[in-house]
Amino acid sequence: AKQAFVRTKPHLNIGTMGHVDHGKTTLTAAITKVLADRGTGTFVPFDRIDRAPEESARGITINISHVEYETATRHYAHVDMPGHADFVKNMITGAAQLDGAILVVSAQDGVMPQTAEHVLLARQVGVEHVVVALNKADGADSELLELIELEVRELLAAHGYDGAELPVVPVSGLRALEGDPVWTDALLRLLDSVDAYVPTPVRYTDAPFLLPVENVLTITGRGTVVTGAVERGRVRLGDKVAVLGYGGQLESVVTGVETFGRTMESAEAGDNVALLLRGVQRGQVRRGQVVAAPGSTEVHTSFTARLHLLDTAQGGRRTGITGGYRPQFYLRTGDVVGNVDLPAGTDLVLPGETVTATVTLGQAVPLEPGLTFAVREGGRTVAAGAVREVLS
Ligand code: GDP
Ligand code: MG
Repeated sequence: AKQAFVRTKPHLNIGTMGHVDHGKTTLTAAITKVLADRGTGTFVPFDRIDRAPEESARGITINISHVEYETATRHYAHVDMPGHADFVKNMITGAAQLDGAILVVSAQDGVMPQTAEHVLLARQVGVEHVVVALNKADGADSELLELIELEVRELLAAHGYDGAELPVVPVSGLRALEGDPVWTDALLRLLDSVDAYVPTPVRYTDAPFLLPVENVLTITGRGTVVTGAVERGRVRLGDKVAVLGYGGQLESVVTGVETFGRTMESAEAGDNVALLLRGVQRGQVRRGQVVAAPGSTEVHTSFTARLHLLDTAQGGRRTGITGGYRPQFYLRTGDVVGNVDLPAGTDLVLPGETVTATVTLGQAVPLEPGLTFAVREGGRTVAAGAVREVLS
């Protein structure tokens, strides 16, 4: 039988971000190594983290790029996105659901283009707390280290973070992974900073259960499993649930709840879980749908929204949009084409401007006022928005 998950500490979702090759995956492996040596985690080697996610023989599992560990005060799920494109996609779709982030900056190279892009994106999707790992400090001289620290603080401040106060910790993921005691201590300082600086988020555990589906897996002999982070509420073994959105609509019963391969009696907002659904065929459920308490949410196609067009410097469009604009809308873990109608008297909205528009989606998805979304076209984010009023 599988081990049961025992909830003894607050759970947080964090992740590494930063420019390619600055050492995110090495640092992630090193964190698991250092904590495993202290008895509060399992070492996950570099090539297990860096491998592309795939359905594996590990049984019910969540996305492979997640690792878990515990500090003295918290349980963390940590996501290390394999590449820049994955990072952008996971941040925008909300799949990452980060309560805080570790920005990895090489102390040998400093701020690079993806460093800045990731900070911008983190701000856009509402990641409020960032701790900086000044990585590769083993090979950097102290003057350069100070200069780069200033540069990073400035970048973060420019995006609305508390650049002056947030922790910046020189580390060496590589040396810590090799067991060097100096750099092991540095890594523990980084984790202390994360524990202290990233607050335990307020979870909506009392709301009706909702989980946006991130992945769908088939476990031979057991049935269909959906994975994702619980957005709100709680779910218990035996609970009835509805699966809906994107043309789907079915009811099921939760017959298994697991987190990182361990069974749970119930999961709550913020938990990364796998749910086994009774009598559901694999083709009946897909990424982007939600699993929710029956009757607690409905699907819609039309709504008014506050839409903010990113300016060109932020990677947005060069030209404005007019009525009839049809980009792709990224809501929770799914995406769907949508038509934008501008208010009467507005013919053009320019990059950098905000408008209240009417959106009509190509398919009905679960929606409610306040839900935020991203708008993309041609592989880049061009706008961010929030639902105001649901129309139909
Ligand atoms: P990622 O693309 O940000 O995930 O970076 P990786 O973790 O794959 O590391 C990129 C390269 O930097 C690899 O060759 C690592 O061995 C090297 N590296 C990572 N961390 C350190 C470090 O702390 N010190 C040094 N000297 N090299 C490092
Ligand atoms: Mg990597």
